[in-house]
Amino acid sequence: MQQGRDPISSVLVERHVRGTIHATVNGRDYALEPQPVVVICADGCSPEYIDAVVDADRAPALARMRKRGHDGQALAAMPTFTNPNNLSIVTGAPPSVHGISGNYTLDRANRRAVMMLDDSGMIGDTIPGALSQAGARVAVITAKDKLRKALSRGLDGISGSAEHAEHLRQLVGPTFKAAAPDKYSADLSLFVLDAGVSLLRQGRVDLMYLSLSDYVQHAHAPDAPEALDFMASLDRRIASILDLDAVLGVVADHGMTDMALPDGTPNVVWLGDILDARFGAGATRVICPITDPFGRHHASLGGFVRVYLFDPAIDAEAARSLLSHTPGVDLVLTGAQAAARFDLPPEAEGDLVVIGGHGFALGACRADHDLSQLAGTRLRSHGGLAEQKVPFLLSHPLAPDMAARLSSQARVWDIFDAAINGVTA
Ligand SMILES: [Zn+2]
Repeated sequence: MQQGRDPISSVLVERHVRGTIHATVNGRDYALEPQPVVVICADGCSPEYIDAVVDADRAPALARMRKRGHDGQALAAMPTFTNPNNLSIVTGAPPSVHGISGNYTLDRANRRAVMMLDDSGMIGDTIPGALSQAGARVAVITAKDKLRKALSRGLDGISGSAEHAEHLRQLVGPTFKAAAPDKYSADLSLFVLDAGVSLLRQGRVDLMYLSLSDYVQHAHAPDAPEALDFMASLDRRIASILDLDAVLGVVADHGMTDMALPDGTPNVVWLGDILDARFGAGATRVICPITDPFGRHHASLGGFVRVYLFDPAIDAEAARSLLSHTPGVDLVLTGAQAAARFDLPPEAEGDLVVIGGHGFALGACRADHDLSQLAGTRLRSHGGLAEQKVPFLLSHPLAPDMAARLSSQARVWDIFDAAINGVTA
């Protein structure tokens, strides 16, 4: 090993002397070796986006990961939304353990809807946080700042978001010169990746979580030129990460489905209007947990909603039957059934949970949603069972014991375990 003025060489020397760092989070031990580990959550990236860009011959790094590493798929946590799945990824556990099952929930006591903006309601430690406390140099970088606080819980390290680009630039240092991105652009995700590559190149991280935005996937199908351009740009950053000799895991928080009619109008079942017509206004409430400050992505329309029955005179079975016979509805469960089936915190469930059929979005009342936010683009969204399948790629082959463990069904919350504990050198 050479020791010289090259900062990367000196970092390699340091890695060899630091040894393994251990932390236990939610019952799993994470043994971080000196080789840096990077996990990317490519928000909204169905496996089809990777298929399309690799098939177009525009993603040599992803193709290399598929060929030489591990080319798998995982199931996202239900509901297939950003917050529950990002939290599952960083805690290595399903929502029943970390407590977050939506971006937007109803406080039943005062009937007020609450937007998740930080880590309140979250239970327990994160893997990046615990490893940083154990001495690892850790960075968590997100596209949207609303996620950063929860994902950085317990972190003694670098925590920044592309939304607050100037702050992130200061954290990364003067060599990071990328232009500040627009909140609604593909550049938001690329800024996250560029910041991560810069930190890795400077030798300042042992573990890094990079969580992107699904702006492109909400707006464009996998074979659209805009999606291919974005995925090719993602691939160039992945190439840099692989060249810097990191172990890389790539996963997504959910997939994405076209939910528009042939004429381009959104294909929505307005459950709030249906319930109001039957039980009267104010007797029930539909909460769309996809709701977040990025309304232009989806107009708060997705494939999973919670229904609250406020009027004690309402027969829950009658409401369930009404909704389950509604065209475009795939499944209606009680809150307790949904919590048991999908490993969700029962106290956060509605009286009923409704899941849309493939290609259908579920809304509250038509008047509650501002469809002009979609700006004439086809509605593409997520939340239901159709968006559960996501990529689960690793730069290195799985070790036999990890391969055996994941052979029945990998989940998104296995990605840190696989990347840290489960690959062969
Ligand atoms: Zn997402």
